[in-house]
Amino acid sequence: MALQREGVCRLCRREGTKLYLKGMRCFTEKCAIERRNFPPGQHGQSRRVKLTGYGQQLREKQKVKRTYGLLERQFRNYFEKAERAKGPTGENLIIMLERRLDNVVHRMGLASSRPQARQLVSHGHVQVNGRNVNVPSFLVSVGDVVVLRDKMKANAMVLQARDVSQSQAIAPWLEIDRENQRAKVVALPKREDVQTPSVNEQLIVELYSK
Ligand code: SF4
Repeated sequence: MALQREGVCRLCRREGTKLYLKGMRCFTEKCAIERRNFPPGQHGQSRRVKLTGYGQQLREKQKVKRTYGLLERQFRNYFEKAERAKGPTGENLIIMLERRLDNVVHRMGLASSRPQARQLVSHGHVQVNGRNVNVPSFLVSVGDVVVLRDKMKANAMVLQARDVSQSQAIAPWLEIDRENQRAKVVALPKREDVQTPSVNEQLIVELYSK
């Protein structure tokens, strides 16, 4: 996750939607979107303008970039890879971001936010196919088995995240064994499998095609 200097709740307020960057707090009434869903800043409440064209495209790109915690350069690299791959660029982009190891750990319900998931990975608590992988941007492939290392299995943060995730939709491309904190990638994600965040990726393609 890119180093985030401003308060992360400001990012959600800027995009006008929950980006789920703060773990458990995002599921409570303390969430800033629940309490003051208007853009941050002195004139946030009074300056609600309807976005068109470039403004919409920019906000859509920022929303996805911030959801997955990427810097502009990293996001642009994903876009360029998505352009080179077969198939629609926008779909390729979303699917590639979903395959990131930190996102998989989040989808498995081992972390209640992507920043937490990233921390688990970068601190060496996650294994892929029996090997330690501490690179959050690692892209999983079909057949990969992702496991949380034993020493973290009773961690309070992990258990809390697991409890919250019970009530959330399961990613159909992952076969999740919650008891053993393990998941197998049984297929590559399809575009329709990724409902959160709700994104119009075509706007991002239009933005970068200018
Ligand atoms: Fe903050 Fe999470 Fe709510 Fe976003 S969703 S405003 S990060 S508490």
